[in-house]
Amino acid sequence: MQALRVFSVVPKLPPRLEALWDLAYNLWFSWNNDITNIFATIDHDLWTACDQNPVELLNRLSQRRIEELARDDFFLQRLADAKRSLEHYKDRRHSPFRFPALPDRDMAVAYFSLEYGIAMCLPIYSGGLGVLAGDHLKSASDLNLPLVGVGLLYREGYFRQYMTPDGWQQERYPGHDFEQMPLKPVLDDIGNQLRICVGLAGQSLCARVWEAQVGKVRLFLLDTNLSENSHEFRQVTARLYGGGLEMRLWQEILLGIGGIKALTAMGIEPMVIHMNEGHSAFAGLERIRVYMQEHGLSFEAATELTASSSVFTTHTPVPAGNDRFPPELMRAYFEDYAGKLGLAFKVFMALGREDPRDEGEHFCMTVLALRLSRFSNGVSRLHGEVSRRMWRKVWPQNPVEDVPIGSITNGIHAATWVARDMAILYDRYLGNWREDPDCKRIWEQADSIPDAELWRTHERLRERLVDFVRKRLRKQLMDKGARQKEVLVADEVLDPQALTIGFARRFATYKRANLLLMDKERLVRLLNDSGRRVQFIFAGKAHPNDNEGKKIIQELQQLCRRDDCRASMVFLEDYDVKIASRMVQGCDVWLNNPRRPLEACGTSGMKAMINGVLQVSTLDGWWDEAFQPDNRLGWAIGRGEEYEDASYQDFVESQTLFNILENDILPEFYDRGRGNLPRNWLLKMKSALRELGPVFNAHRMVEEYVEHAYLPSCRNYVSLVKDDFRAAKELADWRMRLMTRWGNLAIDDIRTETHADVFVEEPILIEARVHLDGLSVSDVRVEVYHGPVSQDSVFTRRSTTPMSPEKDLGDGWHLYRGEVLPQESGRFGFTLRILPHHPLLLDAHALGLIRWANV
Ligand SMILES: *Cc1c(COP(=O)(O)O)cnc(C)c1O
Repeated sequence: MQALRVFSVVPKLPPRLEALWDLAYNLWFSWNNDITNIFATIDHDLWTACDQNPVELLNRLSQRRIEELARDDFFLQRLADAKRSLEHYKDRRHSPFRFPALPDRDMAVAYFSLEYGIAMCLPIYSGGLGVLAGDHLKSASDLNLPLVGVGLLYREGYFRQYMTPDGWQQERYPGHDFEQMPLKPVLDDIGNQLRICVGLAGQSLCARVWEAQVGKVRLFLLDTNLSENSHEFRQVTARLYGGGLEMRLWQEILLGIGGIKALTAMGIEPMVIHMNEGHSAFAGLERIRVYMQEHGLSFEAATELTASSSVFTTHTPVPAGNDRFPPELMRAYFEDYAGKLGLAFKVFMALGREDPRDEGEHFCMTVLALRLSRFSNGVSRLHGEVSRRMWRKVWPQNPVEDVPIGSITNGIHAATWVARDMAILYDRYLGNWREDPDCKRIWEQADSIPDAELWRTHERLRERLVDFVRKRLRKQLMDKGARQKEVLVADEVLDPQALTIGFARRFATYKRANLLLMDKERLVRLLNDSGRRVQFIFAGKAHPNDNEGKKIIQELQQLCRRDDCRASMVFLEDYDVKIASRMVQGCDVWLNNPRRPLEACGTSGMKAMINGVLQVSTLDGWWDEAFQPDNRLGWAIGRGEEYEDASYQDFVESQTLFNILENDILPEFYDRGRGNLPRNWLLKMKSALRELGPVFNAHRMVEEYVEHAYLPSCRNYVSLVKDDFRAAKELADWRMRLMTRWGNLAIDDIRTETHADVFVEEPILIEARVHLDGLSVSDVRVEVYHGPVSQDSVFTRRSTTPMSPEKDLGDGWHLYRGEVLPQESGRFGFTLRILPHHPLLLDAHALGLIRWANV
């Protein structure tokens, strides 16, 4: 092959249009309708053709069009306004949060994620996890949070979906040209693109660093497509979730270890690492290695420091969603690394094992992340509970309630997901919902939107959706080489007036996209009830290796092609954020029927909710905490039952769903009053906006992370590193001392004053002798663990009440006293326990040390 020298040739914009580059290179446009409109008006067809990629749009603009725009005063005025609002946005630094812990630096948090869904033109996401990460960055930007993102830049992204004529999913992987995307190379001191390398079993995997500007947040993305890498290594950032197990390990080494190296190379030293899913847990190891090698800390001190300033969010109760690597594979890549940490390989492996002694157990990234962060959370209340049960083996001494995994419920970035027309309505009636979406008062104003206006806006969005679907369908058919006559059918599908139900998400089996197909006859009858029309729009991708998911897609499409379904059931190919956004804006009802409790949270329903779309969903994920039993906010399929027999469950729940559709949803939608308005429906739309709007958004979510995770972790970090890591070393010593003595701790001689029956709300005084084996009373917390107990003496609920040290009895023994109040009549039980206590320990349960009394 000839050696070529390649240049990128870009059009020269005249000075008056140069501001377009500023707008194009900041992904802020993806949540700013004015800027999106500017790009769309430049050339609507080109904007669509290049997947709403503003950089590509500008690069492909004809000289004639450029000259036209340069003479268009109206356009120039809009451009100047947009540029000014971008500058204003970037300058606005007042923030609801101050980071008092940060004296001399403004970088607090580095957020690590294997995928990001920010805009259609940066396709480095596969589904909810990525979109959530994107929304997290957007809210962090709006809230002026000192946060940077770290991820991988996939040349081919996730796959694009298309179908064979018989409805079998096919994947294609178009490549991306990063020069044509809103990305800039990060440069090193001498002006070359910054590179970092990580060791992979004796070889070097190198990556260059790109930066995407997400409002005020910088997102750094690593790309291994470099000539110095072997062919295999160049594939590391080829496809998201593309390769086998070893490839996944390489990706995760690059993200975690390479990510920390990239930050260091740029002079960015975050205080807190937020691991979005276990994929990035190696970042914790790398931090430990750096603290050891650069600052001379012991493994223990470096680990205390790292864990005290790391935050971990787990995202899935589905076992396959938690990466596990076999010991032989880990040995190939981590034996040397373990040596650098001063650990025997076996001890190293224990960091990723639920049972550290089980040498057959694979190395689990979730377990590593749990062990390397002192703040861990699930993504909804229910998922928090499920996660505590799921990972209890990591803390074998803790009762399940005390497994240190909390929950912060996910949210969506309102300004990204609210339809433009709806946004105009909200601007008029709600006030500043974009900047303050978690303010109750703002969403209470939903009641003041006139019914007719809200309904007309909603209907317009439904009409647009129908139009969008027809166009997509037409294209789908033409791409398959359908005949002209068949293509015309696309123009006839769906009815812009009919009740429209949307279902779009990844086609993971537990999400049960086929629940409605459990009773096809009933479905077809429903679709052909000429009095009350109802129609369904489906979209979603199955993972390339998921044949079950592909079968569901095929079955759905076969139904969509039947003569008696064709007009009112549609499957849209190639689900992405564009389709998601159209669907959540234009449907009347959002259908979600995962098999509880496998949906960790689910966010597409929130996107629908914020547009006034009502939910019908099983009580799983966020809907389990959002649903109200009087149905004023939407409907629930079932009551949150969990079944042993999955196919029985599917049968029962599909019938329940049909009942709700036939008996509740359809009648209510078609119950029209004056002006053809469905008053009850509108009431529900407004109630949902009022009650759920301020809660299920990403600003509320990010603020919770700040309050409960980032700020305490920052404070810990600052205290631990002060005076040459004095407190980190002390904390490690303290923990060692605790661990060596813990086995000798004892509780003895427990006395209560009461022997006979006790009365409700009458205090029970408890005294005990506690042996601390030389530990000080300030090193521990002694507490009464009490509550109602069942006939077989198991706590049905429990509370804890601290006891106080009363007297030093000598020889390491202390007298403790406390009192508890039984709240209700019935069997009541208690026991005592000792927990570690340290001012820098965020959660007393995190160390997994508990000493129970032998009562
Ligand atoms: C929001 C979103 C998801 C997540 O939807 P769930 O309901 O959580 O499954 C997946 N894909 C895209 C493109 C989205 O926008």
